[in-house]
Formats: sequence, structure tokens, C-alpha cells
Amino acid sequence: MIEFVKVTKDYKNVTALNNFSVKIHDGEFVFLIGASGAGKSTFIRLLLRELTATSGKVLVDGADIAALKDAQIPYYRRRIGMVFQDFKLIPTMNVYENVAFAMRVTSAKASLIKSRVPEVLAMVGLTGREKAFPNELSGGEQQRVSIARALVNRPVMLIADEPTGNLDPDTSWDIMKLLVQINEQGTTVIMATHGKELVDTMEKRVLAFDHGSLVRDELRGRYSVDE
Ligand code: ADP
Repeated sequence: MIEFVKVTKDYKNVTALNNFSVKIHDGEFVFLIGASGAGKSTFIRLLLRELTATSGKVLVDGADIAALKDAQIPYYRRRIGMVFQDFKLIPTMNVYENVAFAMRVTSAKASLIKSRVPEVLAMVGLTGREKAFPNELSGGEQQRVSIARALVNRPVMLIADEPTGNLDPDTSWDIMKLLVQINEQGTTVIMATHGKELVDTMEKRVLAFDHGSLVRDELRGRYSVDE
């Protein structure tokens, strides 16, 4: 479980999160919505332990992640898969290598890499594309590679920061369906998005951010409040 307990995060002159409390249980699918500057990225960066709170606590499975020692942080982060709007693939590596690389850095055994990479590429529908380079792929395919890379080490949670932000509507739906499928297999999914239609159609939990505060938390939420 993820628990933000009265978390405030101040940058120099800005309060990016203000007394923010929320609980997210294992296996949930949660949308983070809100205008640019509302605090979604700060929430994600606190969860990744790229930042620590000015006050309050971020607990993951009951442990205060601010207390992690520097040497423990990489291990903590392996429990989280990260997907970005701009994919962040390595352009000089092909599809297989982009995904395998995420395992190599954990010192995984070659035999495990050899069995796991094809498995996760199959899961995202990229079997047969192993040798293609990022610049030979469509945006949707690149995002599938990045999802495969995020999943290859079997994280307990997947954080997707506007994963459909660079994709056309049809491709966005395909990626959305893939994330739901991953969630149905047990991974917690937290997705920041400006995709009104996606949110309104999916009827998943919605956390609405506004000026650093949680202004709505609805189990089958919508993007906007009805007038
Ligand atoms: P969102 O992801 O919803 O767009 P952010 O969490 O990025 O929102 O930003 C929340 C607020 O914190 C904004 O006012 C933003 O300008 C400010 N902010 C974010 N990062 C920094 C930073 N590194 N230094 C100073 N201010 C920042």
C-alpha cells in the first residue's frame, strides 16, 4: 500500500503539494488529473523517492521511504516501473536490447534475461519486432517497448506519466487497454493524464489535483465535475 500522510512539498517559492493525504491499495488503478502545475509530477517524484517531503510522510508497505539509505534507493525503485510521455528509449539499442538492458543493470542472469524478455515483449504485442530500432517504430510501438521495459523486472506498481500524451486517439486507446490488462494481472497502475475521454470512459479511481491539494477522490471518477 502507498500512503501519503499530510505531505507538504515546498520548492523555493512554491508549495507544490499542500497537506496531501491519500491511500492507494495494491492492485488499484488510479488516474492523477489536474492542470499543469497542480502537483502530479511532484507526487510521482516523491513516490519514486527522487524528492523527499518538506513535512509529512510517504509510506510504502508501511515503511517511511524518506528513511531509505542512498544504497537502498535503487532496490526500492525496482519495485516501480516507470513509463513516460516521450518513451525515453535508447536510440542506439533495438527493441530487445532496450528491454534486456533494464534487466542487465540489475545483474540478472543471462538465462533469465533470455526467457523473460520475449515473455514481456509478447505481453505488449511486440513479438517479431525485437530487432527494430526506436526510429523504425510508430509512437504506439515505442510506448509498448517502454511498457515492456517497465515491466520486465516484475514491479509491484507501474507509474505512467501521460503515457498517451504523444499518441493519436486510436493508439492512445490501445495503450490504455494494455495498461488495464497489466492492472488486471495484479500490478498497481498510477497514470497521470490529461485525457478527458480516457478517464470518463474507464470509470476508474480519480485523484484530482489542484494547486497542490487533493480536491476530488472518486472511485469511479470523471475528468471534470458536472456543472
Ligand atoms: P504537474 O505535474 O501537475 O504539472 P508539478 O508537480 O510539476 O505539477 O508542479 C507543481 C508546482 O511546483 C508548480 O507550481 C511548479 O511550477 C512547481 N515546481 C515543480 N518542480 C519545481 C522545481 N524543481 N523547482 C521549483 N518549482 C517547481
